[in-house]
Amino acid sequence: MKLSRHLGKTVKEVPNTAQVVSHQLMIRAGYIKQLSAGLYSYMPLMTRSLMKISQIIREEMDKAGAQELLMPAMQPSELWKESERWDRYTTVDGIMFSFKDRRGSTVCLGPTHEEVITDIVRKEVSSYKELPKNLYQIQSKFRDEIRPRFGLMRAREFVMKDAYSFDLNEEALDVSYKSMHKAYTNIFTRIGSDFRSVQADAGAIGGSGGSEEFMVLAKSGEDLIIYCDSCDYSANQERAESKLEVSESETDQKPMERVFGENIIGAQALADFLKIPISKTTKTILYQADEEVVAVLVRGDCEINEIKVANFLGCSQLTLASAETIKELTGAEVGYAGPVNLPDSVRIIADHYVNNRVNFECGANETNYHNVNVNFERDFKTPEFGDFKLSQSGEICTCCDGKLLEARGIEVGHIFKLGTIYTEKLKCEYLDKNGRTQPMHMGCYGIGVSRIASAVIEQNHDEGGIIWPINVAPYHVHLVGLNVDKEGVGSVCEEYYSKLSENGIEVIYDDRDARPGEKFNDADLMGIPVRITISPRTIKEDKVEYKLRKDSKESAEMLSIDEVITRVQQMLKA
Ligand code: ATP
Ligand code: MG
Repeated sequence: MKLSRHLGKTVKEVPNTAQVVSHQLMIRAGYIKQLSAGLYSYMPLMTRSLMKISQIIREEMDKAGAQELLMPAMQPSELWKESERWDRYTTVDGIMFSFKDRRGSTVCLGPTHEEVITDIVRKEVSSYKELPKNLYQIQSKFRDEIRPRFGLMRAREFVMKDAYSFDLNEEALDVSYKSMHKAYTNIFTRIGSDFRSVQADAGAIGGSGGSEEFMVLAKSGEDLIIYCDSCDYSANQERAESKLEVSESETDQKPMERVFGENIIGAQALADFLKIPISKTTKTILYQADEEVVAVLVRGDCEINEIKVANFLGCSQLTLASAETIKELTGAEVGYAGPVNLPDSVRIIADHYVNNRVNFECGANETNYHNVNVNFERDFKTPEFGDFKLSQSGEICTCCDGKLLEARGIEVGHIFKLGTIYTEKLKCEYLDKNGRTQPMHMGCYGIGVSRIASAVIEQNHDEGGIIWPINVAPYHVHLVGLNVDKEGVGSVCEEYYSKLSENGIEVIYDDRDARPGEKFNDADLMGIPVRITISPRTIKEDKVEYKLRKDSKESAEMLSIDEVITRVQQMLKA
């Protein structure tokens, strides 16, 4: 492609969007154009990169025995009612776009396709002999995200690869799941990203089995990964588990006391004021969990993991109780709640590390007051215990007692074992060897195709612009012609442009009448991995100037066009 005919001009000034740079770089380099919030046009360069990413995904999915199909993005509401997800997606989470057609039927734009694929498979497959099946598509998904942001990172219309496996039983599902894990590892390796797979929370899609996310590591990532420095434990913080140091030395219960402590904010300040270890303080937070108010207790030096709490309670919405509710139930302002003398209507649950303590502190349900020397059973009924704390770096690995560390990541893929939750509701069944009806065991496997482009750029850029790994770059070579109207430069460029193309090398040729500085800046911004420059000076030597985008100016070499072809072909093979 010649730049003079290319659509997608580079842009000089773009407001900086926080720590995420890929969004700004894609706009500046002419890869995407915003239509409105969360809606982007993929300009020609972006489209080529997305095709490359998709092609890698296709090859690895096909190799793993999956088959590509394409389902409608528009779906009837009836199917979502059958799976009992309609209310959650349209009202509770409100993530789904839905509307009425001219006949008055309610339809939606698919945020995901479990329902549609299950409907296909239940109609198409009836015998154990026809299983397993693994089907995937690469298609636009629609989600009315609360906060669409950072361009393709979190858009309202985006490209996803979604795959669904159907198996005889749990063991067979395990095989399908593992083969997807392997395919994903191959995909993210071939794309040229630095990634890690981590244990994940199954979220709204649900499912009881395992679930792992594939994270591209980047400082700007939205997700926090907790991993062990000595074993291969790695989990999304939403799901991570950890052990804490426990140092309870007391055994005798002291009388409970109410202590006045005005406006003390934070567990450490409170511990200092009361002259007790911070591990003896307790945080009590009141939540509205659907219709019920629940008090959640964690050790003062911990934070609450709301996802763990919601999973434990099985509620569909968990929000902090309002200040009015807190006042009504505890009689105190926010910040002084505690388990002693809470009304019976409030369910109390506590993190495991609240347990096994003697003479600990809790809020006294009166503004500015704290109870010290609180003990279970004597002062309040021993609550239900569970794992409710947010795991953090510095804590102890539950697998090996190693030290936990943290890293930021961008979730680019997610694999789930769904089991039979959808197949039972939608009656997606098969007849087994003995003629008995059985629900199929299902898995689902997503990849954010358009988000990958952002994530790869987050990992591969410098002040000048994007630095594409060659496998997903829109072109392999950026051919810069300097003074194209002089001393036959134009015709040499044309000749080499054809020669490279004939050898399977994809070239974008800057044939514009522009200054060298502008051309080099645009080449850096666009991030094509190989740059070759042709000028009156290089023509004299019958060579071109060859430079990799990732290397410095000083590394430029003079090569013949045949040497360039060999080098690029080698890069593509590697
Ligand atoms: P997130 O937690 O980031 O919202 P999710 O758990 O909702 O993601 P899935 O439903 O598992 O995501 O979708 C599969 C993949 O699609 C994700 O791993 C992610 O890469 C991508 N994805 C999800 N939502 C968006 C979005 N709004 N814009 C771009 N890509 C997305
Ligand atoms: Mg989401």
